[in-house]
Amino acid sequence: MSSHPAAIPIPTLRAELDGQVLTPDDAGYDQARTIFYGGFDQRPGAIVRPTDESGVARVVTLARDSGLELAVRSGGHSPAGHSLNDGGIVLDLSRLRALDIDPDQRTAWAQTGLTAGEYTTATAAHALGTGFGDTGSVGIGGITLSGGVGYLVRKHGLTIDSLLAAELVTADGELLRVDEQTHPELFWAIRGGGGNFGVATRFRYRLHPVDQVVGGMLFLPATPEVIAGLIAEFQAAPEELSGIVNVMMAPPMPFVPAEQHGKLLVMAMLVHVGDPEAGQRALAPFRALATPLADMVRPMPYPEIYPPEEEAYHPTAVGHTMFMDTVDEQVARTIVRYLQASDAAVRVAQLRVLGGAMARVPADATAFAHRGSRIMANVAAFYEGPADRPGRQAWVEEFAAALRQGDGGAYVGFLADEGQERLHQAYPGSTWERLAAVKRRYDPGNLFRRNHNVPPAPEDG
Ligand SMILES: Cc1cc2nc3c(=O)[nH]c(=O)nc-3n(C[C@H](O)[C@H](O)[C@H](O)COP(=O)(O)OP(=O)(O)OC[C@H]3O[C@@H](n4cnc5c(N)ncnc54)[C@H](O)[C@@H]3O)c2cc1C
Repeated sequence: MSSHPAAIPIPTLRAELDGQVLTPDDAGYDQARTIFYGGFDQRPGAIVRPTDESGVARVVTLARDSGLELAVRSGGHSPAGHSLNDGGIVLDLSRLRALDIDPDQRTAWAQTGLTAGEYTTATAAHALGTGFGDTGSVGIGGITLSGGVGYLVRKHGLTIDSLLAAELVTADGELLRVDEQTHPELFWAIRGGGGNFGVATRFRYRLHPVDQVVGGMLFLPATPEVIAGLIAEFQAAPEELSGIVNVMMAPPMPFVPAEQHGKLLVMAMLVHVGDPEAGQRALAPFRALATPLADMVRPMPYPEIYPPEEEAYHPTAVGHTMFMDTVDEQVARTIVRYLQASDAAVRVAQLRVLGGAMARVPADATAFAHRGSRIMANVAAFYEGPADRPGRQAWVEEFAAALRQGDGGAYVGFLADEGQERLHQAYPGSTWERLAAVKRRYDPGNLFRRNHNVPPAPEDG
């Protein structure tokens, strides 16, 4: 949908709003319309950066009254490009950065302009933490509303399992406090249901004791035995250990032996929280699977699980999110075969063993319906320019089809713009119906539609 930017009363907005309003004529506009993924070249009519909740409400009201499409952005990592639009309004939350940590209660109120890395660094000063994902620059807004699968998933569950409350500006411009007691259905829906229900301005999280961890990258040969062995070791490991098995071409990093560069290998990301000696014991079987090509696993402060990132890094990628039941040697052979057959500059199969605390939450307790899923998988390839994209997309789809097993789910956080069927995989059956009913109550006009959209259930539906 595209509307003419003239419909936005820019001078009035600038006069009323504490914050920044950027239009295509302003310096900084191109920077401000840059999101994590490359390949999205959309031109919003205005990018608005309020500094408080009342500014957020003003932008929401403006979008509603003007009919312009509203995109909401926290960290800008949406694989679907939902944090941009053409001709509409982008509500950029990056100036909402307050973080109020209560170390005694082990809770924190965090505004949604913070990134996972910023939050983690600040709470680590109290030897406390909340689990997010594998990348520090991801916004706490998007990952929390998606569910949040990271390095504490087996020990402390998804990010939403540590979410105690939220504040949300809804379509009518009201600021609501939601938790298990107040607006419980809305609180259910925002835990996995994405940006469909309003703009989250603050989250209240539970903090867990997280101090030194034993973690880092372990590079191993990409044989079917090693890949299947890693999955089996994760499944047998104590819940303190979570991580990711990346089967990929060796990056040209100085600590990877030069003769391996460009060859297929496994980069396992391992993070053990808790007693360091127990951590070393838990990691020993992983190191014993084969002679490591490089072993960067070491005791480290928890925030170091997020390595530094380059701001100018904007990959163009296609991917497919799915869940799997098993990765035995036969499945691992398929993974190796597909990755060997592609010539994409970057191609990867990413496998995360789930279970533990995440699986102990009932499937209908939140809008994340995949509590019983055993392995989260993501296959992806980088593409170079629009002409390269269809071929890479076809490869990704074929690869995913070759891996498909009984679990037909998908993780909404890794979903691109892939159509209704895929969205129903993220929100299956009764989850979809319940989300649509909550949507009807809180956003009947579907103001919040630039997202993985669940339209309001019809009145008689
Ligand atoms: C490099 C990379 C690594 C990732 N790793 C992980 C991982 O390890 N684990 C995991 O679970 N996920 C991971 N993800 C997925 C990620 O959690 C989702 O893409 C998430 O939506 C990104 O959040 P964001 O705030 O950065 O993105 P944005 O693009 O800013 O937001 C994405 C969408 O979420 C909604 N939204 C965001 N903030 C708000 C808000 N405050 N109020 C209302 N709606 C909002 C909007 O609809 C928006 O379009 C990763 C993504 C990338 C690109």
